Amino acid sequence: MRIQADKVVSFHYRVRDEESSFTESSEGKEPMVYLHGHDNIVPGLEAEMDGKEPGAKFTAVVPPERAYGLANPNARARVPIKHLVRPGKIEPGAIVAVNTRQGPRQARVLKVGHFNVDIDLNHPLAGKTLVFDIEVVDVRDATPEELEHGHAHGPGGAHED
Ligand code: ZN
Repeated sequence: MRIQADKVVSFHYRVRDEESSFTESSEGKEPMVYLHGHDNIVPGLEAEMDGKEPGAKFTAVVPPERAYGLANPNARARVPIKHLVRPGKIEPGAIVAVNTRQGPRQARVLKVGHFNVDIDLNHPLAGKTLVFDIEVVDVRDATPEELEHGHAHGPGGAHED
């Protein structure tokens, strides 16, 4: 079965950012599962998945506009340290969660003062070209419930009951 809209796809991945040491993979874990055609994964990767079959292995180079977006230089803020969720070790480069009007968001620490901390609210992968190594594991039809929710269910899916 080929990957097309409304199919549930399982895949293993390794993703890296060529400019930094960032790398993440599903190695040793359950494959990632998503519903194709519903914006469940970054658009550049979803487009490369289209038409592939189980067993397919490929590399997709995805520019920031087709991944986590361009970095917004205005997404920097100075916030009181007490606004950080679970303030642990706070140092430049650390990823912290901060309470905003839109709810908790991830941010990267730029500078730490006595009471305030300068943070960058861009997604950690904003502005990055990402290189994905993909292996398609399985492709199946979505259930009516999955189509209604707009995401995959079951192991590795959006919510496991
Ligand atoms: Zn659901």
